[in-house]
Amino acid sequence: MKKLFKVAVIGGGMAGLCAAIACGRRFGGDSVIVLEKQSRVGRKLLATGNGRCNISNTYMSEIHYYGDRAIINSVIGGFSVQNIKRFLGGLGIMLREDSDGRIYPYSNQASTVLDCIRSELMRLGVTEHCDSVLQQIFHQNGKFTVTMNDNTISAENIIFACGSKASPSLGADDSGMIFLKKFGFHPVPFFPSLSPVETAEKYKNLKGVRAKGSVDVLADGKIIRKQSGEIQFTEKGISGICVFECARVVNEFLLYRTVYGKLVRKIQLSLDLMQDYHESDIVKYLRKCKGSFSEQPSAMILSGALHKRLSETVVHNSGIGNKKCSELTENELERIADSTKHFLFTPTSYDAFVGAQVCAGGIGSRDIDPDTLAARKISGLYVCGEMLDVDGDCGGYNLHFAVGSALKAAKNIS
Ligand SMILES: Cc1cc2nc3c(=O)[nH]c(=O)nc-3n(C[C@H](O)[C@H](O)[C@H](O)COP(=O)(O)OP(=O)(O)OC[C@H]3O[C@@H](n4cnc5c(N)ncnc54)[C@H](O)[C@@H]3O)c2cc1C
Repeated sequence: MKKLFKVAVIGGGMAGLCAAIACGRRFGGDSVIVLEKQSRVGRKLLATGNGRCNISNTYMSEIHYYGDRAIINSVIGGFSVQNIKRFLGGLGIMLREDSDGRIYPYSNQASTVLDCIRSELMRLGVTEHCDSVLQQIFHQNGKFTVTMNDNTISAENIIFACGSKASPSLGADDSGMIFLKKFGFHPVPFFPSLSPVETAEKYKNLKGVRAKGSVDVLADGKIIRKQSGEIQFTEKGISGICVFECARVVNEFLLYRTVYGKLVRKIQLSLDLMQDYHESDIVKYLRKCKGSFSEQPSAMILSGALHKRLSETVVHNSGIGNKKCSELTENELERIADSTKHFLFTPTSYDAFVGAQVCAGGIGSRDIDPDTLAARKISGLYVCGEMLDVDGDCGGYNLHFAVGSALKAAKNIS
C-alpha cells in the first residue's frame, strides 16, 4: 500500500464514501484512501429504509433538521434535492419517489446505491482499506500520521466520517469521536433521536401488537409534538415510525430535563388509538356494543374496533373490574372512551442506541467552521455525516445530509 495520501477518509459509510468520490474526482483516486474498521464498507447503508434506502426527500428543507443551526443552514441551504439527484445520477443511480415525497433508488434496493458508489471508487482508483482499526493519529508539520492495527500511512488531509452510536449491531460506536476529543474537540454527547422509547409501563401482553394511531408528546401536560402512523408495542415500551419521531424530544428531556432547550418537569406520551373518531362518537359506539355484547366480559367491549389484546388492556386501564358489558355504567363507558384516546406512557430511558436509526449530538460549530466543515484549530481536518451535531426527521433527510456534508467537506479541501 502507498504511504502518502492527499486525503485519508476515516469511516466507509455513506458520508465517507461520497467524500472519497468527490476527493478522488478532484485530486485523482490514487491520492485518496478510505479507512474502515469493519470488514466491509457501507453496512449501515445496506440496512437503510428496510433495505430500500430512502435517500432523500422532495420536501427537503432546513426545518426537518435539529442540532447545530449554523451547520444545518450551511449544508442543507447549499445542497438541494436537485443537487443530490445530479450527484447520484452521475453514479448511474436511477431514482423513484413515493407519494409522500420519499426518494428511493429505482431498484428499491440499498445494495444498488452501494454497488454504484463502489464502482465509481474503483474506477477512480481510490483505495478501500477495511478491517483497519485506528490506533493513533498525529498531526505534525502539516501532515497526519495514521497508525492502524496493520499499517501506518500519512495524509495531508483527514476527513472524519465515523457516524454515530446508533445501531451498534451494524458496527456503530464512538471510537472516531474519541480521536476528535484527543484533538481538543468538544462534542455534544450522542443520544438516540430516531429510536424506540422505553417506558415505565411494561405491557408484556401487548408485545408484537401493531395499531394505527397518533402519539402526542406532553411536556408538563401540554402537547409539544404530534405524530401519527403505525405504533408497535414492544416488551420495553413502544416503537414504530411515529414513536421514533417523538424520541428526540423525549431523550433530550431524559438527558437534560429540557425540551427544545427549556426546562420541563415531566414528559409523557399519550396514544390515541382511534384518531379518526371523537370521544363522544366512541361513547355512542360503546353504548351500541354494550347491547350487542351484553353477556360478554367488559374486556371485549372494544374488540370490534381494536386488536383483541389492546381492547382488553384499554378496558383494564379504565379501572373496570370483572363485569359483563351489559353491567357497564355510562360513566364507565366514558372512561373507556377516554382511555382509548389517551393511552398514557412515561418514558424512562434514553439509552436506546440498540434500536436507534439516528443519534442527536456530535461535533458542532464550536469546533468546525460551518461554511467549510474544516476544523477551526487543526488545518486539514474535516468532519462530515452523522458525526456532526445534526440529525434529521425520518424520510431520507439523514442520508441527504450525509451526502451533502461529505461533498461540502471534500470541496473545501485546499
Ligand atoms: C436501520 C437503519 C435504517 C435507516 N434508514 C434510513 C433511511 O431510510 N433514510 C435515511 O436518510 N437515513 C436512514 N438511516 C440513518 C442513516 O443510515 C445515517 O444517518 C447515515 O448512514 C449516516 O452516514 P455516515 O456515513 O455519517 O455514518 P455511517 O453510515 O454510520 O458510517 C460510518 C462508518 O464509519 C466506520 N467507523 C466508525 N468508527 C471508525 C473508526 N474509528 N475507524 C474506522 N472506521 C470507523 C463505521 O464502521 C461505518 O462504516 C437509517 C439508519 C439505520 C440504523
